[in-house]
Amino acid sequence: MPKLAARVGRAKPSAIMQVADKAKQLRAEGRDIISFSIGVPNFLPGPHVYDAVRKALDHDSGQYGSNRGDTALLDAFLKHMEGIGMTGYTRENVVVTIGAKHGLYNLFEALVDEGDEVLIPTPYWTSYLDIAEILGARVTLLPCPPEQNYKLTPAQLDAALGSRPRLFMFNNPSNPTGMVYTQDEIAALADVLANHPDTWVITDDIYNRMVFDGLSYHNFVQFRPELRDRVIFTDSISKTYGMPGWRAGFLAGPADAIRAVVTLNSNHITNVPEIVTAAAIAALSGPQDVPAAKCAEFQQKRDQVMEVLARIPGVVCPRPQGAFYVFPDISCAFGKSHDGRRIGNDVDFCNALLEAKGVACVPGSAFGEPRSIRISYTCPTPQLLPGMRRIEEFFAELV
Ligand code: PMP
Repeated sequence: MPKLAARVGRAKPSAIMQVADKAKQLRAEGRDIISFSIGVPNFLPGPHVYDAVRKALDHDSGQYGSNRGDTALLDAFLKHMEGIGMTGYTRENVVVTIGAKHGLYNLFEALVDEGDEVLIPTPYWTSYLDIAEILGARVTLLPCPPEQNYKLTPAQLDAALGSRPRLFMFNNPSNPTGMVYTQDEIAALADVLANHPDTWVITDDIYNRMVFDGLSYHNFVQFRPELRDRVIFTDSISKTYGMPGWRAGFLAGPADAIRAVVTLNSNHITNVPEIVTAAAIAALSGPQDVPAAKCAEFQQKRDQVMEVLARIPGVVCPRPQGAFYVFPDISCAFGKSHDGRRIGNDVDFCNALLEAKGVACVPGSAFGEPRSIRISYTCPTPQLLPGMRRIEEFFAELV
C-alpha cells in the first residue's frame, strides 16, 4: 500500500470514544451501565425547529448555497450574538461551518503554519491539541491545575505570550472542567492580550448560554475593543439547542480572517446544507425556553454531583459554573487498590470504576490533566444520583 500522509499519523483516536465504546460493549453483555462519559445534550430542540425543516423541504432548491452561509442564518446568528453582549458585528464578520469543530479546524488552517507556536491551556478540549498536531503546529501547554481552579492567570498568559506565539486557544465555559471565567478575570486577561498584538486569539464559547448561579458569559472584546482585530469567537447549535447531529457552527471575527475561512469552506464543503440552515435559523431565532429550562436543569444536576463529591474524603473539585461537566481531582486514589486491582493512574481508575461499578467516566489525561476525571452529567436525571453513589461506594472500598 502507498504511504499515508504523515499528518494522519499525528492524529490520535478519541479517548472519549474509547470509554464510550467500552461502556457500550459492557451494556451489550447485559451489564447495568451508567454513562458519564460523552458530552452530548440529552434533549431535542422545540417543535418549531422541525416545523421549519418541513417547510424548507417543501421549498427545497436543491442547489449549492453560499460558502459563507445563508444570509438569513448569518443575520439570525448576529442577533443571537447581540443577545450575549457581542455587538457591532456585521455579515462580513461571520461564517457558518459544519459545527464548531469544523470551524475550529478551518480556523487553525487559516491562521497557523507548520512549526508555528500555539498556546493551549490545560485542561483542554481534546480536539484543540489534535487539530494543532495534525497541522504540524508546535504546541505549548499552559498548565492550569485544580489549585488555580483550572483557570489561566494573567501572569501565566503574559509570560507565555513573550515568545510571540501565532495563536492562543481559549475556552470558556470549559469542557472538561465546567469552569466559567468571571467578568474581572476576562477583563484582566484581555488587558494582557492587548499588549501582545502578534498573536491570534480563538475563543471557543459554545457553552455561552449554559452559565449558572446568575453569572453571565463574557468575551475579551467586550473589555478591549481593539482586540476585535484578532479575536475570533466560536459558537454552535450543538449543545445549546440539543442539536449536535445537525452540524451547524459559527465563527465571528475580523473580516480578513473570516474571509479566509469562507475560502476554505469553498474548498472543503461548499455550503452548509439548506435543511440544516433552516433548522439553525429556527433554533437561533425561535423561542428560547428549551435552552433556558435545560440550563436550570443542568445547574441542579451540578449541585447534586458536587454534593456527593464533597462527601468523598480526598477528592478535590473546583465548583463548575457552566456547561455540563465536573472535573474532580481523584489522585487520592492513586497507589490504592480496588478489589485487588491496583490503581496507578487516571486510566486505571476509570477502568476499575467501569468494571466494578458500571460507571463510565473519562480519564483526565485525555484533556491534559492526569490527576482528574471528567464526569458529564447529561444522563437521564434518575440515573444521576445512583451513578454518583456508585462512585462514592467505589472510593469507600479502596484499600
Ligand atoms: N468545543 C467544545 C469545547 C466542545 O465541547 C465541542 C463538542 N464536544 C465542540 C467545540 C464541537 O462542537 P460541534 O458539535 O459544534 O462541532
